[in-house]
Amino acid sequence: MIKRIMTDVDVKAGINLILKKIDETYANRSKEITSPKPLLVAVSKTKPSQMIIEAYSTGQRHFGENYVQELIEKGADTEIQSQCPDIRWHFIGHLQKNKINKIVNTPNLYMIETVDSQKIADSLNSALERIQRDDKQPLRVLVQINTSGEEEKNGVPPTEAVGLYKHISENLKNLKVDGLMTIGRFGHDYSTGPNPDFIVMMECHRKVCEELNLEPSSVQVSMGMSDDFDKAIEMGSTIVRVGSSIFGYRAKKNAA
Ligand SMILES: *Cc1c(COP(=O)(O)O)cnc(C)c1O
Repeated sequence: MIKRIMTDVDVKAGINLILKKIDETYANRSKEITSPKPLLVAVSKTKPSQMIIEAYSTGQRHFGENYVQELIEKGADTEIQSQCPDIRWHFIGHLQKNKINKIVNTPNLYMIETVDSQKIADSLNSALERIQRDDKQPLRVLVQINTSGEEEKNGVPPTEAVGLYKHISENLKNLKVDGLMTIGRFGHDYSTGPNPDFIVMMECHRKVCEELNLEPSSVQVSMGMSDDFDKAIEMGSTIVRVGSSIFGYRAKKNAA
């Protein structure tokens, strides 16, 4: 049964549909929002390599994973490596200190979106000191913000965004801090108005740019998933992370 559902999913059509919706939303959003056109990160967690290869064949390059072990396995998958030589992995899961050495060695690791403490940032920086990344560039990271204030969500409180951002950009030369990321509260009812998480996030973005004197278009905003990526783009998101609308329903997995 599960097998049948999986093969029924048309990954190529899914990618094209989401890209079209991104284009349309971007073209039609309020002219006051001037952030750059959003990047699609296809979230392939729990999904087989074959689906990644299929998505890659449409031109999709950025893929997101949120379990360390799964990212390591997919990063080392010889079929993915040979058929997707230019794949760019985003780690979007919770990062623990004891997994950092493993993760920084993943081939084609492009960005870690979930840096949520100075301790994690410092550990990443020192782990990178000890290895040679393929491209010898600093590793891109985003500062994760807990915009909803829910206890079970990771991320720094909005008031600490500027401080952590500044710490990374001034002190950690093996990291390139590229912007902010949030997951936010699930199931917002849009009939009651805009998503409060997105408002908090754009406020953090404004503060970071203002206080650190950064060009707003140079600070990424990663927010929006299958259910709300269009709403996120309307508010200024520059990275949307879309999984189930492309790859189909996921069986629930216990948090790793
Ligand atoms: C799973 C996941 C997504 C994608 O969620 P969908 O609702 O399937 O689009 C995006 N971001 C993070 C951090 C995730 O864990």
